[in-house]
Amino acid sequence: MTTTADRSTTPTNGLPQERRLVTSIPGPKSQALQARKTEAVSAGIGVMLPVYVVKAGGGVLVDVDGNSLIDMGSGIAVTTVGNANPDVVAGVQQQVADFTHTCFMVTPYSGYVEVCEALNRLTPGDHTKRSALFNSGAEAVENAVKIARAYTKRQAVVVVEHGYHGRTNLTMALTAKNMPYKQSFGPFAPEVYRVPTSYPYRDRGLKGPEMAQIAITRIEKEIGAANVAAIIIEPIQGEGGFIVPGDGYFSAMADFATANGIVFVADEIQSGFCRTGDWFASEYEGVVPDMITTAKGIAGGLPLAAVTGRAEIMDSVHAGGLGGTYGGNPVACAAALGSIRWMEEQDANGLAKAIEAVMLPRLTSMAERFPAIGDIRGRGAMIAIELVVPGTMDPDAGLAATLNTFCHANGVVTLTTGTYGNVFRFLPPLTMPIPLLEEALGILEQAFEAATS
Ligand SMILES: *Cc1c(COP(=O)(O)O)cnc(C)c1O
Repeated sequence: MTTTADRSTTPTNGLPQERRLVTSIPGPKSQALQARKTEAVSAGIGVMLPVYVVKAGGGVLVDVDGNSLIDMGSGIAVTTVGNANPDVVAGVQQQVADFTHTCFMVTPYSGYVEVCEALNRLTPGDHTKRSALFNSGAEAVENAVKIARAYTKRQAVVVVEHGYHGRTNLTMALTAKNMPYKQSFGPFAPEVYRVPTSYPYRDRGLKGPEMAQIAITRIEKEIGAANVAAIIIEPIQGEGGFIVPGDGYFSAMADFATANGIVFVADEIQSGFCRTGDWFASEYEGVVPDMITTAKGIAGGLPLAAVTGRAEIMDSVHAGGLGGTYGGNPVACAAALGSIRWMEEQDANGLAKAIEAVMLPRLTSMAERFPAIGDIRGRGAMIAIELVVPGTMDPDAGLAATLNTFCHANGVVTLTTGTYGNVFRFLPPLTMPIPLLEEALGILEQAFEAATS
């Protein structure tokens, strides 16, 4: 593979790029902090792996006990440019010293405008665009719905099975999975409709366009296309299980939206910003969404989110109808500008593709040894394996949990996901050194050996 990406210059935050365990995981200091957490923090805030981090960079997280763990999660696809990326740190330090907040809606500043200009330039399509900034992914999705409703003067919102869009009231309604996101938190917002997605591994041979036709018929017969304000779809589903729709599904849904005056929203909060080897995963099928929601990878770890869309749609809202006290905070904007500059200068998409080039063949050879690997999917640095009971397609969430525990105990921070809890997902920072990536995959292989022997 030829890319201009040069991994030898990726930042490490001065940390040795090694897996180093000096205590059991979690170590004694982490355990003491976790005990304090239990006393101080709501039990509703779960912790997957209670190692308390003190420093991070490149491909490692260093904990309070001095362990160095391989980071295969990027804090859920956030630190794509690496933790404490120097371009992010420099921008943040300057900004935080100059001023920390004015509220853009009161007295504005250039960073906000520059981030919007970058989003308008980088997102798919060469039409005139506008952006608006918010604090979290859920808030961006909520605002996409507000804007689409204001523009279309329609109310219905269509989402798909296995979709994930956040934890606020409206986005809980948009999200498919009950536990843990929705259980006991209803009632949910009305006028939200869920139609089939394309899940090639589980669609019994039906192709992307066929699944789109099923979804479209449902929209036409049960909702009425003329009532639909927006269709919101992740081009690769994140929390739903890294489900890559069959070729043609995403573009067929976009075409149907366009033909029916429906705002087509790509939720790129997890898949965007070079995660999949493209700036945005929508580009893979050449889809130009009317609106894109972004967050996670946008600002190297600072809280920032955005809605970017066609100017006529974005400008259809009355002045003052959108916003928020902190949306587009100047420090978060400085982080985003540093992050975006780094992605452009370092060919971040090339770095993501190089990670895919290591992971896919290695996972494919593991699947030959371990029949519990039912499916391997994803693109760039957004790759997953789906675990099943061998010889069946029955989800094996227990195996996913066992592998996860083994990896954690051996100093690799891994994540599971999926509606059935049986998907093992990998979201390494693009600054991950290749030898460390290979070491993490070796630990996974050992985890399989231990679990299936
Ligand atoms: C994480 C995520 C969200 C919610 O973002 P928050 O910042 O956690 O509110 C929405 N959509 C997708 C696709 C996500 O992955």
